[in-house]
Order: sequence, then structure tokens, then C-alpha cells
Amino acid sequence: MSNRDRIYLSSPHMGGLEQQYIAEAFETNWIAPLGKNVDAFETEMASYLGCGGAVALSSGTAAIHLSLILLSVEKDDIVFCSSLTFVASANPILYQGAVPVFIDSEPDSWNMSPEALERAFKTYVGKGKKPKAVVIVNLYGQSADYDRLRKICDYYEVPIVEDAAESLGATYGKQMSGTLGKFGILSFNGNKIITTSGGGMLISDDVEALSKARHYATQARDKAIYYQHSTIGFNYRLSNILAGVGRGQLKVLEDRISQKKDIFGLYHKMLSEIDGIYFMPETGLSKSTRWLTAMQIDSTKVGIEAHELVRYLEEFNIESRPVWKPLHLQPLFNEASYFAHEVGRDISQELFLNGICLPSDTNMTSENQEFVIQLIKNAFSH
Ligand SMILES: *Cc1c(COP(=O)(O)O)cnc(C)c1O
Repeated sequence: MSNRDRIYLSSPHMGGLEQQYIAEAFETNWIAPLGKNVDAFETEMASYLGCGGAVALSSGTAAIHLSLILLSVEKDDIVFCSSLTFVASANPILYQGAVPVFIDSEPDSWNMSPEALERAFKTYVGKGKKPKAVVIVNLYGQSADYDRLRKICDYYEVPIVEDAAESLGATYGKQMSGTLGKFGILSFNGNKIITTSGGGMLISDDVEALSKARHYATQARDKAIYYQHSTIGFNYRLSNILAGVGRGQLKVLEDRISQKKDIFGLYHKMLSEIDGIYFMPETGLSKSTRWLTAMQIDSTKVGIEAHELVRYLEEFNIESRPVWKPLHLQPLFNEASYFAHEVGRDISQELFLNGICLPSDTNMTSENQEFVIQLIKNAFSH
């Protein structure tokens, strides 16, 4: 242990303007989950992403839930979902009583494998059980390979929900991450590249669907002077105070992206020469924000397992994490079917066992980052 402050994976990093927007909400007494900050946050985000519109919500999970409802996902429907992700990508499938089927990663991007997706479609369409939606996750700041994935989904005419919770600010070709599916979802949870302490957003070009989402997110109240309800609704709107934090954060998003890339750049410069280290590759049309710097290590070459390295850094009060434990290996989903990248080769499990996310906090000084790098080198040398 040391007296040094803890070094975090990714902690909230305010820009300075957030309090001004919150103060405005107080001055005008728009404290409720509606008001100028909510509207402006939606418009500003839609214009940043270049999409038809956006709905500010209480979480990214709520955004995934509403997108499944808008796609009429119901009890016993099949939904395909990336396996290598946070559980929030798939929990809303269970909220609807639907059945998740998990799809492996490809080694090139760590994101959804087109080969595995194709096999899943053939199998399920062959059984007469075409999925209602495909939830594709963009890991650690990097877009999945939508040219290939979209071709398959378009062929089977199944819509994509793009889970861009970790990839706000990334691009795929000329498009912003979050705008590549029928619906995109963002998260502003505390560890994301920008945060409202908690919050999320639903993105789409379909403004009619978005207006339905607003309706569902506010308890689905009918147009009447009294309280009348014809369908099930939710309390999913973002508060006007938190939307103020979001507006301030959006102003510094580009700075955060360039800081994240610099953090990756330093790790890459100091560690990539070591035999047995493989940083998450950036492929094809994809430009990553490097929200988290992630790498795979080959323990037979560096002499330490990825999960041991996490524990070792923790001894120095440094937060790192194993790569997500794939959802098909979670007790919660032990009934679910799974399609591996190749028969007999489970890529997401390999990434979980050998992968580590390094401290990628934009509040971290470069001296602290150099200290982390030195410790990693020390851990390797024994
Ligand atoms: C953070 C995250 C979410 C969920 O976002 P919340 O705002 O915490 O509900 C969903 N998917 C992925 C991949 C995430 O990393």
C-alpha cells in the first residue's frame, strides 16, 4: 500500500460547465425530469452524432429495454446478443421474457463475429425461429464491423440494436458510433467516457419511434386531462438536473477522447515491444476512442496470468479489470445457446482468460501512468 491516491480504471471527469447548467435548472425551478436541459441535451447529442433524434433516459439499460419494446420483442421471442459484454446488454431481453442467444467475438476486433452470427441465423431460421432483434455491442471504445454484420442482418431482415454504451465518439467509416443500427443506445454511467452520474440515451433516425419511446418512458400516459393508461409504461426519463451535467460533459467529449487516445498511446509505446502482449486491435473502418486500453497477455511468454496481474496491481491500490466475463459463461444464462466464432474455438472465453483492461482514467497523471507501466514490467520479469 502507499499514500498515493488510488489510480482508477475510469472515473468521472467534470469539465467545469456542468454546474452552470445545473444552476440554470435551479434558477428556473426545472428540477423535474423535463425542462430545457433535457431537450437541449437531446438536440446537442443528435447533432453531434448526426442522427434524427435522441431520447434522454435514466440509464443505458433503460434505452436497451425500450428499443426491444419498440421492436415488439415479446415473451419467447429470440434475440441474438454479443456474449463478450456487460450483463446490461442482455438483461432487458429477460425483462421481456424473451430468449437470448449469445454470439461470440471475432479475434480481429473483439466484437461480434460475423461468422458466428451467420451460423446462428442459419440455425434459428432453419428451425423457423427467426430472431426479433440483434444486440451488437461495441467494446471498450471500438465499433463492431457493421459492414459485415449489417449485410447478414439485412439479408434476414432483422433490425440491429447498437449497444454503444462504451463507444460514444468512436467512428465507423464516416458514421458516428451509435447511429449504425435501427436503434443505438448510450450510457452516461459514472465510468463511461462522459457521465451524468447515471443516465442513458436512445438514438434513432426514426423520430416516430423516438416519440413512442418518450411516451413509454413517462408511464405511457394517454392524452386526457385525467390519468389514463392503455399500455404498460416505465419511469425512465433523465432528470433535468442530470441532463445539465450531460450538456457540460458533451462540451469536453472531444478532449476526453484525445486524452484516452494519449493514454493508449503511452501504454502502446512502452509495452508493445514486449513479446506476449497484444493490444485490442483497431481494424478496418473502425476508429476507437480507447475508452479503456485493453490487452491480451500470453502467460507462457510473460510468466503471469492476466487475472494475477489484476490482483498484483490491486496491491498497489491500482484498479484494473479482467475483460468482461462472457455472458454465455454466466450462471444467469446457463440455459442459453451460444455460437462460437469457429466450431471448437471460443474467442470470447480466450479474451476473458487472457485479457486485462488497464487504468485508463483521464484524471490520471502521466507520472502515475508511468508508474503503472513500470509495475507491469516488474510483474512480467519474474
Ligand atoms: C455501461 C454499459 C451498459 C449499461 O449502461 P447503464 O447506463 O449502466 O445502464 C450497457 N452495455 C454496455 C456494454 C455497458 O458497458
